Amino acid sequence: MRVFISGVAGFLGSHLADLLLGKGDEVVGADNLVTGNKQNIQHLDGNKAFRFLQQDVTIPFEIDGKFDRIYHLASPCSTAAYTKHQIAMLKTNSQGTWNLLELAERTGARFLLASSSEVYGDALIHPQPEDYWGNVNSVGLRSMYDEGKRFAESCTMAYRRARNVDTRIVRLFSAYGPRMDVLDGRVVINFIQEALANRPLTVYGDGRQTRSLCYVSDLVEGMVLAMESDYDQPINLGSPEEVSIRQIAVEICDLIPKCLSKLVFQPMSPDDPRHRCPDIRLARQVLHWFPKVPRTVGLQRMIEYYRT
Ligand code: UDP
Repeated sequence: MRVFISGVAGFLGSHLADLLLGKGDEVVGADNLVTGNKQNIQHLDGNKAFRFLQQDVTIPFEIDGKFDRIYHLASPCSTAAYTKHQIAMLKTNSQGTWNLLELAERTGARFLLASSSEVYGDALIHPQPEDYWGNVNSVGLRSMYDEGKRFAESCTMAYRRARNVDTRIVRLFSAYGPRMDVLDGRVVINFIQEALANRPLTVYGDGRQTRSLCYVSDLVEGMVLAMESDYDQPINLGSPEEVSIRQIAVEICDLIPKCLSKLVFQPMSPDDPRHRCPDIRLARQVLHWFPKVPRTVGLQRMIEYYRT
């Protein structure tokens, strides 16, 4: 198959490209390198089945040939980006989604939107099933991402209904793994860097807020299964194993020999969700998917990657 990936030089995009190329697909990947990093795809230099386009998908663009599949992953999406890339977040999820849906319509490709657990906001239902409509602050500090993804989902469904574009939507929950940007401010990458340097691990709030971490290889495998399935409504992909932030800090320290880091506590951002955990019954049922990489294994792989 000929596949287009937006955001190919990002953490998830680069792992997805590896998986698809490994399956024998031809991949054209675009990235404007605002938060993506060319180092993430450097190992693909010289691979004849891969082509990189430095392209901002918010600007309409022409591209030769037909595509069978379009994966839309482009969007700044980290804690740091909530401050630095607010407008870009809104644009990639609105105008960028629009342009790629147009490309899907023009080329007859099936389109998959990488949406996010952020569409649920500070959820009042726990764990979050796909039919929960969410609790989002439309003017909050995360609103650019939350509302951006909500718009992107709406846009995807409108192209499905009005233009017959064949679409899929996955809602991703807290991915982690090698190639995460060291500056993006996310909890696992911050803690690993702090622990490797024997600095204190900075916990926001009391550390009792929870997340559920899904290793990147599991997540991209779920995305491909969703793309190739017949199921066309939103589907959660993530780990159902909920863990507190304080516990993640302790586990990372325990995995690093001679780690002497203590925890320090700083105030939490007002829009930081207290709990986040996917209900993945749908993914189990329709995709036969569930995360396989245990957290200790995933964290260990990530520690080794950043140690070297
Ligand atoms: N967090 C923390 N220390 C850090 C980075 C994050 O305690 O150095 C907390 C953050 O306040 C949040 C949780 O970890 O409650 C997950 O944050 P992250 O930015 O990784 O992802 P998100 O909030 O988007 O799920």
